[in-house]
Amino acid sequence: MDIDLHTPVCIDYLRHPLLEAAGSRLGMLRLDEIHPLVSGNKWFKLKENISKARAAAAKGLLSFGGAYSNHLLALAAAANACGMRSVGMVRGLHGRERPTPTLEECRSLGMELVYVSRETYDRKEEEAYLDQLQAQYPGIYIVPEGGDNAAGRSGAGAIAGFIPAAADLVALPVGTGTTFAGIRNVLPEHIAVLGFPVMKGGAYLLPQLEANILPGRENWQLEPAYHCGGFARYDQTLIDFMNLFFEEHNIPLDFVYTAKMMYGIFDRLGNGDLSGRHIIAVHTGGLQGNRSLSHALTYVRG
Ligand SMILES: *Cc1c(COP(=O)(O)O)cnc(C)c1O
Repeated sequence: MDIDLHTPVCIDYLRHPLLEAAGSRLGMLRLDEIHPLVSGNKWFKLKENISKARAAAAKGLLSFGGAYSNHLLALAAAANACGMRSVGMVRGLHGRERPTPTLEECRSLGMELVYVSRETYDRKEEEAYLDQLQAQYPGIYIVPEGGDNAAGRSGAGAIAGFIPAAADLVALPVGTGTTFAGIRNVLPEHIAVLGFPVMKGGAYLLPQLEANILPGRENWQLEPAYHCGGFARYDQTLIDFMNLFFEEHNIPLDFVYTAKMMYGIFDRLGNGDLSGRHIIAVHTGGLQGNRSLSHALTYVRG
């Protein structure tokens, strides 16, 4: 692959009175720092998809996402770096609204943007629709929304390799659950995996996770209480937490994913639920999405 990752990936251990009181260690695995555009877990979910596309001599990559999608931006950057074409199917804009900074950046990386209605977008997993796209874009390799396929899970499994053996709990935010399943499948079983779904009612992910996590890989759990109103929703408590977190630890969090996880971890530490643990929280990136909150976050420039 033609993307240089900043290696070694580092773990920042946090200092905080709540950690001292709980007798716990908490480190953040800084996947946000591996690459300026192909940030966080998105790179891991894409890399085996790109290898497959290349092996099939595909001319480009096509995928799906919303107007703020970390996934589409990562895919645009990765395709650009590999000299491949990219097509982004964007949910619900119809080209009527002004493109977001995320979509502008996708376009500047050479991505062809196709705005589709919500009804059409909802067909993104239908075979007939995928056949139609394949015919429309000959030689294109289609990556599902969020990189949510077996290659995505397998690639995400490589994240487990950065977790120190002394850890006993890995925490991560959960969208599709691709990264969660990938890590659980590879991580030694004595290390628990705790996922923080970032959408309302995240327990709906359980059957899909059960299907994608290898039999016998137990010791995982979802904590669905920290969605702060739903996907990409936030409240003043979350914003205050993010600004304070940056002030105290000098680590930027994104409001869609990693802030909700860290808020959840500190809340549970305060409740005494995570005492005596050695926790590694995965910073899955996503910082580009904070541009829409530059008015509220002290550490984001507009
Ligand atoms: C996409 C994303 C996730 C969710 O990953 P899944 O594999 O879909 O669960 C988590 N964090 C960030 C920053 C993301 O961009």
